[in-house]
Amino acid sequence: MSYFCDRIERMKAYVPGEQPETPDVIKINTNENPYPPSPAVMAAVQAVRQEHLRRYPNPTSKPFRCAAAKLFDVTPEMIICSNGMDELLRMLILACCDATRPLAYPTPTYSLYSVLAETAGAPIREVPFPADYRLPVEDLAATDARLFLIVNPNAPTGTFTPIDELARFAERMRGRAIVGVDEAYVNFAKDNAVRLVKQFENVIVLRTLSKGYSLAGLRFGFAIAPEPIIAMLNKVKDSYNLDAIAIAAATAAINDHTYAETTWKKVIEERDRLVPKLRALGFAVVPSESNFVLATAPKPGAEAIYKGLKDRNILIRYWSTPGLSDKVRITVGTAEQNTRLLKAIEEIIAAGR
Ligand SMILES: *Cc1c(COP(=O)(O)O)cnc(C)c1O
Repeated sequence: MSYFCDRIERMKAYVPGEQPETPDVIKINTNENPYPPSPAVMAAVQAVRQEHLRRYPNPTSKPFRCAAAKLFDVTPEMIICSNGMDELLRMLILACCDATRPLAYPTPTYSLYSVLAETAGAPIREVPFPADYRLPVEDLAATDARLFLIVNPNAPTGTFTPIDELARFAERMRGRAIVGVDEAYVNFAKDNAVRLVKQFENVIVLRTLSKGYSLAGLRFGFAIAPEPIIAMLNKVKDSYNLDAIAIAAATAAINDHTYAETTWKKVIEERDRLVPKLRALGFAVVPSESNFVLATAPKPGAEAIYKGLKDRNILIRYWSTPGLSDKVRITVGTAEQNTRLLKAIEEIIAAGR
């Protein structure tokens, strides 16, 4: 006999990327923005007074919702905030899925999805991407899912599905399933799916301040969706899911959106410099519209390169899972970090010969 539910006993926990304590590591393993957050964010944190902490915060992060509504040209009622996008994903799965209502997503993708579905007791329909990473529309549509999650640009591939294609898929799923577009990395891409929220009753766009706004430590995510979807999610949200400091900082970040844009430009420029250099070293790099690249490693192989870099205090991401074990995922860092990365890879390759 167990104290715990069968499905929790059976499942494996999510494994986050390493978060080293040592300060001198080049940390390009979990897709953080290498540039600091807006000075307005730090000022907002410093402006927090005793009274803000003594009282409960605004239960729906209203200051943030009003600021974001202006930016995206929607109403505040079309926005919900969460403690990182991860919490929002959990809320969405809880609201849409159960033992009889499966979750589907193309793979490889964000490995938290399966963990969240398992905790909710929802069946999982994994649909592999083809070799060119185009959205497997027919195979997804053929599932019995009631919720689809599509990361765009996808992680860990960095590949982008055109918004028209997502629109056609949403139209096809109308009346049958919610289509969630996880736009964690959209700030580094050419387009986004926010306009679909105004056209389709079944589309929700999920965002985070962790990557684009350099605020992974803050834990702030939000979604934009038609009002009935947001109303449903409000039923499953914690009463005060965001603290007063996070609300103040996130509101300052979104109000100083032009500052964040300058960091996106720099990251994109560096990505476009890094990719040809990796190719010259023998990597096969998938075209990325994100702040990271997925690259098939040359000799001595992905795992050896990952370990060799770790020995040199450079942390990238490696998965031993089928389909990914010959690849590494590298977050685009600053120019200086990327230069040191390339030099270290050169050494490792030379030593492996
Ligand atoms: C980082 C990430 C998230 C969630 O980020 P939070 O830090 O929880 O806001 C969601 N989806 C994908 C694909 C991500 O990479």
